This record gives sequence, structure tokens and C-alpha cells, in this order.
Amino acid sequence: MFIETRGNDNQKPKKVEFSYAIQNPSASFGGLYTSEFLPHLDSNFFEKMKNENYKTLAFSILKLFKIDIDDEVLQEALNLYDKFDDEKTPAPLIKVKNDLFVNELYHGPTRAFKDMALQPFGYILSHLAKKEKKNYLILAATSGDTGPATLDTFANKENIKVACLYPDGGTSDVQRLQMVTESAKNLKVIGIKGDFDDAQNALKSLLANNDFKDTLKQNEINLSAANSVNFGRIIFQIIYHISSYIELLKQNEIKNGDKIYIIVPSGNFGNALGAYYAKKMGLPIEKILIASNINNILSELINTGIYDINNKKLLKTTSPAMDILISSNVERVLFDKFGDKRCKEFMDSLANDKKYSLTHYELKLLQEDFEAVFCDDVFALKTIKQFADNGYVMDPHTATCIKAYNELKKKNLPCVICSTAEWTKFAPTMLNAIENDDKKYSDKEALEKISNSLHVKIPDCINSLFSKEIVHSDIVEKCDIKQEIISFIKG
Ligand SMILES: *Cc1c(COP(=O)(O)O)cnc(C)c1O
Repeated sequence: MFIETRGNDNQKPKKVEFSYAIQNPSASFGGLYTSEFLPHLDSNFFEKMKNENYKTLAFSILKLFKIDIDDEVLQEALNLYDKFDDEKTPAPLIKVKNDLFVNELYHGPTRAFKDMALQPFGYILSHLAKKEKKNYLILAATSGDTGPATLDTFANKENIKVACLYPDGGTSDVQRLQMVTESAKNLKVIGIKGDFDDAQNALKSLLANNDFKDTLKQNEINLSAANSVNFGRIIFQIIYHISSYIELLKQNEIKNGDKIYIIVPSGNFGNALGAYYAKKMGLPIEKILIASNINNILSELINTGIYDINNKKLLKTTSPAMDILISSNVERVLFDKFGDKRCKEFMDSLANDKKYSLTHYELKLLQEDFEAVFCDDVFALKTIKQFADNGYVMDPHTATCIKAYNELKKKNLPCVICSTAEWTKFAPTMLNAIENDDKKYSDKEALEKISNSLHVKIPDCINSLFSKEIVHSDIVEKCDIKQEIISFIKG
């Protein structure tokens, strides 16, 4: 069963099934749903899984959660990993140095790690909607990776519509094209004049707008969310951390029971939370090392116990998917460690004073599982070049992890870095790093130059974007968003 991070308000149910939690992701007092118990994995489990492929591993783990989803539905959801580059190994683990391994999570249809969870999650949500004869509208605001992955998973799915807002000029060309060329009739993509914060705020005010809510009611449409506050995504994000450990066993790099480090480039903390749950379930993780960029709210919390966004402005970096000030999934760790009352105190304090502070003792508990550091663009770009010169191409988000690898790894244990995007999504930044210049390259030019000089392939799904028809050309003012979405729902 699933319980609430901020306690119960006596209006919502106290405990809910998985299917309820993923259709209604908002819990009492604005909290989140989280699993009441986590299953336990022991070394026998890891040993057994050495002979299995990713889908079998994933199915075995999902079964241990005893969620209220039929086996056939889980199997069908996992079959979506067949669309990945290698269906047996959707998340390959690549050795780049003696003690350094990269868990490549970006081999799905939109070339970012969001696919690992959104692909199977999208199938399950649409299945439930159909079964319960409900219609859902999913609203998404994206800085570039969530949008394409959400649209791809829900394209042509019954009983689901998606409206996706992106900041015009605030994404890479590849990311924008991935969205505006989506032709499925149940998808609406809207560019807005403003930045990512404006897109997110527009979404929030829409959710509070009575006129909008009435329209949804009249059309019998429910709202749901596909961002990583939805446990339906988190559950799939536990699995690939466990698979990285089993890959190390398969490759004879560790003995069963040996500890490893996992390094996560973090934004909304969904990926890191998956690693935390895996550790709690018994995966031998020494520490989870968190990499932030200069929007260093997470590394500050983990190093000082203080989360303070007063006087903080969102800074633009070369790792835009980590440009964030409110990191939603930290809440689930706070709940897990300190309980619902204390978690609600923190979250109320964040809402009212834009700040909360852990006690010295609480901070110690947090640091039992996490250490963190932040990485600036200069370091990230230097790292990209250094690794490219040695034959490994990593994207700007993945590169931030090397800072954590250099500074936080204290013991001589293998390190697994989560690689969250393919270089092709951030080609101009990649070329700036490799050429050591700051020229403005187009995505197409940068893709071709890098592909030729480093002999790396551009996947067809990226190449073909440039000749696809643009279906969504609307760029609207913030005040017109509501009308755009209402017409879409009614149409
Ligand atoms: C979403 C994203 C992240 C951040 O992941 P969280 O789970 O939100 O912490 C990092 N890198 C890339 C490329 C992403 O798309």
C-alpha cells in the first residue's frame, strides 16, 4: 500500500493501492505517495539474476512490490524496452576506467533517461484509464527532456491527452523538434514566450483556475501528472540501479556482496531516490554521490543541512535538466528518515519561509546515504573533452558526475555513473567543449561535426527530426495558454 509524506488530512484515504497513487499523485497537504514497505533483496537474488535479462529482472522486482497491476499488464509495459537499442540490455554498463563504469540509461526512443521509466509507466497509466473508463489530461512543463519522453510514451494511447508547454528558445533544437513534430492527435505542444519557470508557473495557475477546472469537469476529464513526483515513475527508477550491480557481477568486476558507489546527476531527485530505495532494499551501495550544477541547492542541503532558496535565482547552465531550485523528490527521503510530521514541517517551512533546516543529528542521518558536490560549466566542458580524447563521449549532465568521482569517492570501490542523456541532445555544447570555443553552432552542424571527428553514430530518430513536418507551430503569450488548452480538450 501507499502512504502520504505529509500525513493524512482525513479527507483523502489513509492508504491507497498503487493504481490509485499513480492516477491521483497528489496526496494530503500537497504531499506525495510513497510505498509503505520496500521488499528486501539478498545476495541469492542477485546471484539468480546473473543469468537473466533486464525484463526478467524488472518483472521479478515489480512482483516483490505486490502492486495491484496484473502480470500481463506489467509484461506488456516491460515489452516497451524492446524499442531500445538492445532489447536484452536496455541499460548497458560500460567500463571507462579501472574503477569507473557508466550506466547508459539513454538508449530509448527520445535519447534521455526519462524513457527508462516513462515508457512502461505510460503503458500502465493508459491501461488503467481504459479499464476504469476514465479520461486523463496530462499537463507537462518541460525544459527539454521530460516533454519528448512524455509525448512519445502517450502518443496514440487511448483515454489520455497530453498538453506540453516548453519555453520557446529555451530548449535545444533537437529537443524542440522531438516535440513539435509529434503528430499523434492526442498530443498538444505549445511554445510559450518566457523561460522554463514561466512555463511551470503557467501550469500551476492553470491548475488553480476555476474556469479551467469547470471545463475539465464538463468534459469528464481528470488531471494526472507524469513528472517524477508520480511513484509510477519512481518504481521503474529503482530497477536500473539494481541492474547495474548485476551487470558488474556478470562482467566479473565484483564479487556478490561487494559494495559500490553510485553517482547521480540530480535535478528533481527522482533518479537519486531510486538509488536510495535500492540501497534500502539491500543493494550493497557504499554511498550515493549526488552531482549538482551551480544551481547547487541539493549539494548545499546534503553538506550543510540547510535548504534555502531565499536570494537564489535559477542560473542557466550547460546541464539544463538539472537547473532547478525546488527538487520535489527530496521530500520522500525526508519522510522516510524523519516521518510525516517532521516532513510536513519542512515542506510548510519551505512554502512559507523558502527555507528549512535539518538538525545536526538529522543531517548525520542524511549523510549516511548521501554525499554531494556541485560542478560548474568550465569543469563539465573540460571533462567532456578529456573523456572524448580518450574515446568516451558523455553528455554535459553525465560530465558533472566526474566532479563527484574525483572529490567524493573515498574508498577503493567500483563507481557507477548514471548517464542520463545521449550527447546528440546537446550537440552544440558538446562541440564547444571539444573545440574549446564558444561559437554558436546549430544542432545539425554540431551533430555532423562531432559524428565525423569522433566516429560516433547519430541514431536515425535524431537524424530524421530535421526533415519531419512541424505539426505544432503555436508560440503563445502566457495569458493565452488557458484558451489554447481548452480548445484542445474540446476539439
Ligand atoms: C531529468 C534529467 C536529469 C535529472 O534527473 P532527476 O531525476 O530529476 O534528478 C538529469 N539529466 C538529464 C539529462 C535529465 O533529463
